[in-house]
Amino acid sequence: GQSQGMGHRPRIIAVANQKGGVGKTTTTINLATALAAVNQRVLIVDLDPQGNASTGLGLRPSDRQISSYDVLINGNSLEEARQDTAIPRLTIVPSGMDLSGAEIELVDFERREMQLKESLAKLPQDVDYVLIDCPPSLGLLTLNALVASDAVLVPLQCEFFALEGISHLVRTIKRVKKAFNPELEIQGIVLTMYDKRNNLSAQVANDVRDYFGDVVYRTVIPRNVRVSEAPSHGTPVLVYDMKCPGSRAYLNLASEVLKREGVKA
Ligand code: ADP
Ligand code: MG
Repeated sequence: GQSQGMGHRPRIIAVANQKGGVGKTTTTINLATALAAVNQRVLIVDLDPQGNASTGLGLRPSDRQISSYDVLINGNSLEEARQDTAIPRLTIVPSGMDLSGAEIELVDFERREMQLKESLAKLPQDVDYVLIDCPPSLGLLTLNALVASDAVLVPLQCEFFALEGISHLVRTIKRVKKAFNPELEIQGIVLTMYDKRNNLSAQVANDVRDYFGDVVYRTVIPRNVRVSEAPSHGTPVLVYDMKCPGSRAYLNLASEVLKREGVKA
């Protein structure tokens, strides 16, 4: 893997699905870690008031003086808010609970859906990928992420009604494309928490592949207890247990993402 060098605009990818608990944060943290491991300089923007990406990377609430809330509402720069993590080449703009108020406060802003895009435009050119961990809704926070992004990566849990949920997201992406961001594309759909002993998992995976074809990554993230243990240790599963099936899957996902980005990993 080669990073793209200084003096370029980063690729910005929103990790989005309005459903909670489908693996957005897990995917953000571990895809970011896997990209950093192959020399990409990655910035995570934690846009979820729950702040699970921040906690999952070992940031304590007291470490979060300037947060994504301050970037959206108080005019702080991403550079002021950005913090190092224990992972080389991986930085994060943390979130805090105050972010839940931002949905309402943003309504009064003149360019309320453009705040994150405008902040990202001023980011120093030392980042190859920005991954935005979105909250579980399609409100103004996720809208800010979609308007600011080049592409959306959609984690999809293999469960009943998965397709219904995603069609709402796809309609939203189309609307954002039309109104604000014509270049926005779906980077891909990643099937998460796949349980090979469960027939429903396999059936849903087949339906999603029939419907979305090659948009669905070949890599499937298995349900793996190591993946769910890692956050309580404040570390990505890729650091917690590099060889477990979940880690291997996220490394494969990163190389698929880079391939779609046109980067030879
Ligand atoms: P979201 O950000 O979409 O709400 P999370 O990434 O926080 O979803 O995942 C929801 C829960 O499922 C978390 O407790 C997480 O640790 C767990 N989880 C996510 N992916 C896996 C996996 N592949 N195997 C086992 N548990 C997982
Ligand atoms: Mg989350």
